Amino acid sequence: MDVTFHCPKCKQELVVDASGAGSEISCPSCNGTITVPHPDPTNIHTANPILTSAAAREDKHYSVPVHDGPTSVLIQKGPPRLEVAAKATEKQLRIKTIRRSDCMEVGHDRFDDVVAEFLKQIGPDDMVNISTIAYSHTDLATRALMTDYGVLVVYRG
Ligand SMILES: [Zn+2]
Repeated sequence: MDVTFHCPKCKQELVVDASGAGSEISCPSCNGTITVPHPDPTNIHTANPILTSAAAREDKHYSVPVHDGPTSVLIQKGPPRLEVAAKATEKQLRIKTIRRSDCMEVGHDRFDDVVAEFLKQIGPDDMVNISTIAYSHTDLATRALMTDYGVLVVYRG
């Protein structure tokens, strides 16, 4: 059972095991000497599941261990707080090349649609850079060397 009381000097709330009642401790906050009070109905630390949860105690109390040997560490720090917000998954820099010749569908040039659709998928936040490219390719039907253009999109994804 824990006894909860306040330092008479600095009003720091302290929690001590009831076995330490009557012994003198040093206040971890102001270093003043305090006599641990005996538990009574007003200072018994009730077992409220919310108040006794680690998180609640970490905010509200110092934990003051009482033992016979020389007192070394009075303040027991709680476990490190978990990061509340999960880190966003690290995105990698990627490159997408869209060539106009790849967007031709039975005579229709869908290049603008394809590029627009791709940019929509990435979204403005992950868009890093977009630049035009020119390239040559051999037309399969005519075997002629064609010059065409496209875009190179750098994005995070
Ligand atoms: Zn104090």
